[in-house]
Amino acid sequence: MKFIDVHCHLDGDWCGNMPELIKKIGDCGVQKIIAAGYDLKTSEFSKNLSEEYEGVYFTAGFHPTEIGKFKEGDLEKIERLSEHEKCVAIGEIGLDYHYPDTDKEGQREMFLRQLELAHGKRLPVVIHSRDCAEDMLSVLKENRELLKDGALLHCFSHSTEIALELQEMGAYFSFGGASTWQGSKKARRTIAALSQDRLLTETDSPYMPPKSLYGTFPNTPQNIPEILFNMAEVRGVDREEMAEIVYKNAHILFKKLAN
Ligand SMILES: [Zn+2]
Repeated sequence: MKFIDVHCHLDGDWCGNMPELIKKIGDCGVQKIIAAGYDLKTSEFSKNLSEEYEGVYFTAGFHPTEIGKFKEGDLEKIERLSEHEKCVAIGEIGLDYHYPDTDKEGQREMFLRQLELAHGKRLPVVIHSRDCAEDMLSVLKENRELLKDGALLHCFSHSTEIALELQEMGAYFSFGGASTWQGSKKARRTIAALSQDRLLTETDSPYMPPKSLYGTFPNTPQNIPEILFNMAEVRGVDREEMAEIVYKNAHILFKKLAN
């Protein structure tokens, strides 16, 4: 079976010996992983990783909680990274209202600038969306024309109704470890309700491992099979078939995965 992790972070000390970690991930059948940037430094780090390892791809962008680090000129650097043959998307970008001192205006502006950048480069976007359902929906609705090259809602946590509305607009959805947890009724309901050609798997490593490793650290892309098997069970689909569907979906959304 071939697996894919469409969203993980491999920039922490927890990675330890990188060649060993990458080998272990491959040994689990996880053939391709997309290392997500969340600021300039991690976008550059992920690019370097993709140059070193065949199955590693990357995204470049500013995460909403990291915009405080942004300096004028950084977006031009993100743009240059996006031209790399293994940069599959602009991300992760979006809105995150989780913390009380959130600069909502600043987040929105940075999100829009990066949606425009992705559109200009004909690249899909990887969207982070937490505690901001209404605003996210309205930004995406108002800027539909910027999403023509594809959008992934990663670690999707809003309601099934919102997922269906975004699906209408062409969005894809990836689910991680949390979708396997006891009590993850909402994620399961959404996985069951979406069209199978919009489903993807991710770990968002290193946090939120799947059920069998609940409460442990780190979560790694080695845990993709457990996440995929849970998805297959929820959908009532054979594991092998589910793996094929997800692998294919990823290549449809992220065209540069073929490089
Ligand atoms: Zn992430």
